[in-house]
Order: sequence, then C-alpha cells, then structure tokens
Amino acid sequence: MTTALINNAKQYVDNVFSKLQSKNAHQPEFLQAAEEIFLSLVPVFEQHPEYIKHNILERIVEPDRIVSFRVAWQDDNHDVQVNRGYRVQYNNVIGPYKGGLRFHPTVNESIMKFLAFEQIFKNALTGQPIGGGKGGSDFDPKGKSDAEIMRFCQAFMTELYRYVGPDVDVPAGDIGVGAREVGYLWGQYKRIRGAYESGVLTGKKPGYGGSLARTEATGYGLVYFVSEMLREANSTFLNKTVVVSGSGNVAIYAIEKAQHFGAKVVACSDSSGYIYDAEGIDLKIVKRLKEVEGKRISEYVTYRPNAVFTAGCEGIWTIPCDIALPCATQNEINGDQARTLIANGVKVVAEGANMPSNLEAINEFLDSGVLFGPAKAANAGGVAVSALEMAQNSSRTYWTFQEVDAKLHDIMKSIFNESSEAAKKYGYEGNLVVGSNIAGFVRVANGMLVEGVY
Ligand code: NDP
Repeated sequence: MTTALINNAKQYVDNVFSKLQSKNAHQPEFLQAAEEIFLSLVPVFEQHPEYIKHNILERIVEPDRIVSFRVAWQDDNHDVQVNRGYRVQYNNVIGPYKGGLRFHPTVNESIMKFLAFEQIFKNALTGQPIGGGKGGSDFDPKGKSDAEIMRFCQAFMTELYRYVGPDVDVPAGDIGVGAREVGYLWGQYKRIRGAYESGVLTGKKPGYGGSLARTEATGYGLVYFVSEMLREANSTFLNKTVVVSGSGNVAIYAIEKAQHFGAKVVACSDSSGYIYDAEGIDLKIVKRLKEVEGKRISEYVTYRPNAVFTAGCEGIWTIPCDIALPCATQNEINGDQARTLIANGVKVVAEGANMPSNLEAINEFLDSGVLFGPAKAANAGGVAVSALEMAQNSSRTYWTFQEVDAKLHDIMKSIFNESSEAAKKYGYEGNLVVGSNIAGFVRVANGMLVEGVY
C-alpha cells in the first residue's frame, strides 16, 4: 500500500471528525462514541479508497433524521407535566431502524445520538436485517405510580406513532423501559392505528407478541460472547471470580448465566452503591428485590448478613476479580478504575452496558493484554433476539425458549468470529474494538454503495 493512500485515509478521517466536532460541540457523549469508532476505521479506508470517493464516513455519521417532541401528561394529582421525547433514525440501509427507548432524566440529544450511532454497527454485526436508531425521554420513571407510567407511555406514543411501524422503525426497551412500558406503548399504538401490527415494537410480553428469551438475551448473550473470548484463550468461566455492575435486566441475566457456567459472582450494584458477597451472590434475593419489589440493592444484606453494602458505585472496581462485566450505564469505568482492575489481576472485561468504559480505560485494557469485549459486540444479544421477535411476529408464530436461546448462542459466536477475523484481516489481531467496528461498518458501507446516493 502506498504512503499516499495511508496518509489520505488518515487525513480523510481527521477531516470528517473535525467537521463533526464543530457541528456538535455541545454533544460530548456523541463525539466520544464517534471518535472511538472513527479511530478504528483508518485501516478500512486505507484498503477501500472507494469509501472515501463516496464519502461514506461523512454520510454515515449524519442521522437520517432526529425527531424531538413534547410529551404532556397528567400526574396522579391531575397536574400537567411536560417532558421531551426523541427518536433518532440513524441509518436504515440494512433494515428498518431498530433500537431501544430510554426513559431517564439524563436523556438528551447527545446521548440519544451516541446510542443510535453505536446501534447501527451493533445491529449490522448481528447479521439480522435491522438498521440503527434509538429514542427515549427525560421522563424519570422512579417514584411514579403505575397509572402515571401508563399515561406517560400513552402520551409518548400518541406522538411517536407517526414515525414508527413494523417496516419503518421498531423501538424496544432500554433503561427505564421494560415489558410493562412496552405493553402500554404497544396498546396505544394499536388503538391509534386500528391494526394488529405487532412487529412495531419488540420486548413485548411473551404470549402477547413477545419472544421467549428476550428478557434474558442481553445478559446471556454477553456471557456467551465472553465464553468465546475465553475459549480462544483456552479457558472457561468455571471457578472464575466475576464482578458485575448494575442489578437491572442486563446484570441479572449475566449473573445467572455466569453462575450457570460455574463462575462465582461476588458483587453487583445499583445507582446507590454496591454489595460484596464473598460466598457468591444469591441471585434469587437480587431478583426478588429488583424485579418484584423494586427495592434498593442495599436491602440484600438484611437477607445475607455476611455480605457488605458500600454506598457509592465507583468502589465496585476495586474488588479483585478474573472477569469484570460492567452492566449498568455509560462511563462507569475511567482510566484510574481500569488501572485498579488490572493491578488486581483482571483477565477479561466485557461490556454489558453501552459505553461503560471511557477511551482511556479501553486503551489501558488493550495495552495491558486484558481481553476486552466492546459493547457493540458483547451486548448485541438483546437486539439480536429483538430481530428474532420481529421474525416471529411477521410469520405469526412463536418459537420455544430453547430455539431462541440456541439461535442467540449461534449469533454471539458468529459476532465473535466476525469481529476477530476483521481485526486479523486489518492487522489488529486480538483487538475486538477495532474488529467489531470494522466488521459492522463494512457491512453498512457496502450497503450504502449498493443503494447509491441521490
Ligand atoms: P435497567 O434499567 O434494567 O438497569 C440499570 C441498572 O444499572 C440498575 O440496577 C441501575 O440502578 C444501575 N445503575 C444506573 N446507574 C448506575 C451507576 N452510575 N452505577 C451503578 N449502577 C447504576 O437497564 P438495563 O439493564 O436494561 O441496561 C443497562 C445498560 O445496558 C444500559 O447501558 C443499556 O443501554 C445497555 N443495554 C441494555 C440492553 C437490554 O436488552 N436491556 C441491550 C443492550 C444494551 P438503579 O436501579 O438504582 O437505577
């Protein structure tokens, strides 16, 4: 390859990124996600000058559209509350826009865009026919009654229905949006449309359009992915010590599958702090507290007096472990926390949450030889099973738990293999960050070449 091509590729990526910075100066999370992906793509542009000629990078980083809307709803005191709703429809080259809805007070355009941008490549990696999108609201579901949640979801869908549909854009759950919220959103969509288009949303309750194993999919998928990483290093989960952050949907089912594979999970957390149970987390207690009673993780110690609760989330990464699975939220591991994990002997870090490690942390892991599974690949099991839910809805059928779980397992193996192969092909053997970014990007970029530009 000529030096001119290499310089040209680097210069192209730098130019697109500096334009992006000037247009989006107030969107740090979006720029962080874009920078991480851009840095990995230089070797692709070196080998594919046709992507530069067709200006694929600048096109792919600009969303097809962003919809922002008012959501006015009545609380239990009949007072009118107002929130802001979003839907970012980023790229539909591979299939209908697809990505979850997040209800959390921190939601803003930057976070929606970072999540939607990452989703394009994650969805492409699954090999399923789904494009990239994301949405949500700054609505805080904490402390709201069931009736308030229902009215909010109905108000949200009363505007969102204009932009979604089984062949257009298919939202799902994310933080603050589980099967209950998806049920309310779906009910309102059905009322407005007057048709049973169950493929418009995924994450529905099993038996009511939902796929079996969707609840478990992201956590189980993460552990299947890590099993592949370990297999390549001639190892397994058996007798490994594992730390998992969070105690929501992803964390709970990651713990369940890791325990099933013989690991000892010693810690998990919520936004108020973390628990350490040296004898291994009793998942039945965590599930009851979090899935049934909606309580704080601190209550765990009343049932397991030998366990310890520590207020504040950061300290969880000081617990020595073989495998760390951040499954809570973005930017929960910075450079210092990564260095502490490494000093304590961590061998594998894999991301259940989206962007839980910042760039400095990722570089620390890669430089010190820790096996690192990036979110885009490692947590793609959720959206993969969402695509399987769409397939079941289209054919008006249900598959068994075992069928869906087996397909999920195959998809996670294939994501690992594709990411690993792409890393090797472009000269970054063992670097799954570069590999997954490239494998996802190339699939979408080739689709853009096929479609042409008008
Ligand atoms: P949930 O809302 O079910 O759970 C989130 C968990 O993280 C809760 O236990 C929450 O605690 C905790 N948490 C939030 N902030 C912090 C913090 N700063 N430190 C420690 N814990 C914290 O969400 P999910 O499990 O669905 O999602 C978790 C992550 O995984 C998100 O990044 C999401 O985007 C990503 N993801 C989810 C998928 C899915 O299928 N659900 C698919 C792919 C990615 P508290 O209860 O106190 O709020």
